[in-house]
Amino acid sequence: MKCPFCSKTETRVLSSRPSDEGHAIRRRRECDACHRRFTTYERAQLEALMVRKRSGRLEAFQPDKLLEKLRVATNKRPVTEKQLREFAYGLEDEVHAARIDAAEIGRRALSFLQRIDDVAYIRFLSVYRDFDSVERFIEEIRQLGDRADHEPAASKARDAEEARPDDPATDDADATDPDRSDRSGDA
Ligand SMILES: [Zn+2]
Repeated sequence: MKCPFCSKTETRVLSSRPSDEGHAIRRRRECDACHRRFTTYERAQLEALMVRKRSGRLEAFQPDKLLEKLRVATNKRPVTEKQLREFAYGLEDEVHAARIDAAEIGRRALSFLQRIDDVAYIRFLSVYRDFDSVERFIEEIRQLGDRADHEPAASKARDAEEARPDDPATDDADATDPDRSDRSGDA
């Protein structure tokens, strides 16, 4: 909990007691940096979190629905329920602070899946991204394949060069060829 006076994150709870007839917890806190005191209230969030759609309309953000879609996409894949929950519920704070809109939630979900499992990523992509053509979808998958093949392709090229000992340009090129270090940097 950030100190509202100096924004340092090290604050201590001095006391904690029920408030509002048990509907809230009142906590008295002190900042370790500036030693000022402040009060926080913790209560259940009952009103829906709203997120803005591309059309401008607001709709309720439902992490459980997102979680269900992620479960379908990752079915029988090496992804844990914990990973999915951390991601879906991790978005709540950002929605609450209105830092992200509905489209951004979709983008975050895609990049989250892309990082953890290609198959789940493709499943989610095929269902929830609006592709205007089959070609665009295939292009997306092709690019994913290119990224996955990048490293093996580079080492194949290296093998091919090593198999030509009569070419003087390949001698101790490994350490000095700037082209090659660029390529491995991209991978
Ligand atoms: Zn402070």
